[in-house]
Amino acid sequence: MKKTRVGKMAACVLRHVFKKPATTRYPFVKSSSPKAFRGKIVFYPEKCVGCKMCMRDCPSGAIEIAQTGEKQFEATFDLSKCIYCAQCVDSCLKKALEFSGEFELARLDRRQCIVTFRAPHQKTP
Ligand code: SF4
Ligand code: SF4
Repeated sequence: MKKTRVGKMAACVLRHVFKKPATTRYPFVKSSSPKAFRGKIVFYPEKCVGCKMCMRDCPSGAIEIAQTGEKQFEATFDLSKCIYCAQCVDSCLKKALEFSGEFELARLDRRQCIVTFRAPHQKTP
């Protein structure tokens, strides 16, 4: 009985010695995120109409939409508050919000988690 077990174990070990590892060498080898992954939010100012539905529906108060000119809006996200629930993306009827595959969002300083998207012609301070 004992011999059979040892034999089975040895065969299993040998099989795995020649198998490709299941893990990757991240962060040395970058991997792409799966389809429909909810990473950092992207804002398209040219599509935004300033209805603020995203702001109202965000459960964690992570979005702020501000008017910067006639029919021009900018969006500020606090990624340290965001829970990546996708509610804002679903609420935006103009498709001005989208999730990207970006997931490396850890920062040492919370202030660096605040991201503002402006129209390309607007100045970034
Ligand atoms: S819901 Fe969409 S269109 Fe409305 S303010 Fe938010 S991003 Fe702009
Ligand atoms: S993903 Fe969820 S928590 Fe993050 S900004 Fe959108 S609604 Fe708010």
